[in-house]
Amino acid sequence: RGTPPRDWTNANIAQMKSVCRRFGFSYDWRREISTGDPEYYRWNQWFFLRMLERGLAYRKRSLVNWCPKCQTVLANEQVVDGCCWQHDDTPVEAKEIEQWFLRITQYADALLEDMVELEGGWPERVLVMQRNWIGKSRGTRLRFAIDGVKDSKAHIEVFTTRVDTIFGAAAVILSPAHELLPGLFAGEPNRAKLEEEASRLRARIIRGADLATAEKEGFFTGRFATNPFSGEKVPIWVGNFVLAEYGTGAVMAVPAHDQRDFEFAQKYKIPFPVVIQPVEGASLRAEKMKEAFTDYGRLVNSGPYSGLASEAAIEKMTADAQAKGIGEAETTYRLKDWGISRQRYWGTPIPVIYCAKCGIVPVPDKDLPVKLPENVLLTGQGQSPLANAPAFVNVKCPKCGGPGRRETDTMDTFIDSSWYFFRYTDPHNERAPFDPALVRYWFPIDQYIGGIEHAILHLIYSRFFCKVMRDLGLVEIREPVRRLFSQGMVLKDGAKMSKSKGNVVGAIDMAEKYGCDTPRMYTLFVAPPEKDLEWSEQGIEGCARFLHRVFRLMDRHAAALHGVSARDLKPGKISSASEKEKVLLRKAHQTLRRVTADFETRWHFNTSVALIMELVNTLQDHEPLDKHARPEVLKQVLELLVLMLAPIAPHLAEELWEMLGHKESLHCEAWPQYSTELAEEEQVEIVIQINGRVRGKICVDAGLPEEELAERAFADPKIEQLLRGARVVKRVVVPDKLVNVVVAQ
Ligand SMILES: [Zn+2]
Ligand SMILES: [Zn+2]
Repeated sequence: RGTPPRDWTNANIAQMKSVCRRFGFSYDWRREISTGDPEYYRWNQWFFLRMLERGLAYRKRSLVNWCPKCQTVLANEQVVDGCCWQHDDTPVEAKEIEQWFLRITQYADALLEDMVELEGGWPERVLVMQRNWIGKSRGTRLRFAIDGVKDSKAHIEVFTTRVDTIFGAAAVILSPAHELLPGLFAGEPNRAKLEEEASRLRARIIRGADLATAEKEGFFTGRFATNPFSGEKVPIWVGNFVLAEYGTGAVMAVPAHDQRDFEFAQKYKIPFPVVIQPVEGASLRAEKMKEAFTDYGRLVNSGPYSGLASEAAIEKMTADAQAKGIGEAETTYRLKDWGISRQRYWGTPIPVIYCAKCGIVPVPDKDLPVKLPENVLLTGQGQSPLANAPAFVNVKCPKCGGPGRRETDTMDTFIDSSWYFFRYTDPHNERAPFDPALVRYWFPIDQYIGGIEHAILHLIYSRFFCKVMRDLGLVEIREPVRRLFSQGMVLKDGAKMSKSKGNVVGAIDMAEKYGCDTPRMYTLFVAPPEKDLEWSEQGIEGCARFLHRVFRLMDRHAAALHGVSARDLKPGKISSASEKEKVLLRKAHQTLRRVTADFETRWHFNTSVALIMELVNTLQDHEPLDKHARPEVLKQVLELLVLMLAPIAPHLAEELWEMLGHKESLHCEAWPQYSTELAEEEQVEIVIQINGRVRGKICVDAGLPEEELAERAFADPKIEQLLRGARVVKRVVVPDKLVNVVVAQ
């Protein structure tokens, strides 16, 4: 963009901050932190070094996800439907480089087990996504010997959760990136063609969410393996739906009992047997099957295991595999270690130095922070920009004093967000990331808000960091966030508002046109916060008109109410209130009761706004209010209105509060308490008649709708008894007065 990243970031922060302030968001700015400041990211480096000491950070050469647009590596969590999480039109490429990893897999079980603490407080959807992402499965690792290879170590390993189906294995399928492939192709006459096919499929590996729908492709290698249980020959295939980095990079295909394998076998006409029959219902025949039978059942065509139930077979066959040395029980996880190296400028420098003599040397704590050099030429080319800054790269080895080279990759910015909230408790600490005593005071977080798009990214990384901190003795908690709320997105014309789509409605433009309170109110009113919100100009106009109405209402009455105290309204005065006064007081307190519940428990601010609008309508219906209500009654009703409006339209509410004669700021007021007595519906006596004769009386809330009133009358024990066996011909309901039931005689 032609602007140095730091200036660009700082300008954005300043802009965002001014919007926040202008809209009246009440943050404690004394605790503001910026992850781009060395005072913050030095602690990223400090955490990295602690992890390095414990073997939780390590360096490894591996295939990585590469976004050609970002020109950087992406974590598995950042690949969405095969594309970059920031570029949904850019397929991710596979590239082999050396990079740093954090051993999040060491915490896989803790991440799973500690979810019990989150149940009830986190949306179930997020927990399910995390559980699936961690993907723990118990199963069996098995070895298929490769035909025509003398070396007993050369075998294909597969992992399966369904060893009971192994007699039905119709093929072994390898990932196009499997390390055994070059060896398998070596002696083949059509080797060049096979290698070409494999490299074509490597570019078409199917990932994650696409697995169910994307086109599965593969080819036969010409080689065979031996089924370790049946001793039969099974063809070795290559398939683009097998990922090299998950599990063993190979699967046994059991078409009769796995849907993906079934589709693959259908496409390539690979014959297969049925080896599991359902416990109930008709027997399966391979040639008649329309889809795989994936449930547990009873084994057939499975040698000595035929007749066993799946569960028993899995146990016995796994034990036998172990005894025969052809496999063993294993627990696997889908979760992979977190690759954190990024070939970007704007990030935390990874604090290690490479020395020809000493190898990887951590930067000593006393030399932190390793500062990001300013004025680095950003070319946008596919290598780390920091490599172009010789003054940064060339340093003395801290161990031997010889020439060393700094690591030039920076950390994934998700490191920044993995622990920033801990820093809020102690934002200016220069000796430690935070004082544990302060974290003990503030944590865990009572309520966190985060979009569903963070479910397996930020929300899993930050849980991981918390567990590492616990092992470092910095915190005592297992989980950083007690309750999580996932808000919806803001849509414009059905599409997510985003800078790249150019459909962002500027907050400042809105504020210029309507003031800040109107868009504030609109966003609360248009949808409950967990739902997506469709931005509409008409909706905003409606809110603007409403706020004007409130202002005019107050303008008509406020001046006359100066010096009147709403708190003078003693219970005695209420009982002497007129009917109209009672209506107003009841409406105000009922509104307050429901708005309080919306704010405290349901977070359905949209219904709160609707209720407040209703209250204003009621007030307008009773104009002239000063003729119908005494000043202290009117003042109380208007004050409650303003207090309820305060969180929604704080600036206008402050103004209205002053108009009512208050000198102190409205925002020093406590949230008002509703009076249960005043909020109660008025009771009315309903006469119940049967064929015109009075048979009973019930007391109900005034204003019950006809249908409900009739139901209540019929439910009265005495009436119910009288009507037993009778045929009701007709019923007449007069609201607040009478229910007459006509029965056939
Ligand atoms: Zn990208
Ligand atoms: Zn050295």
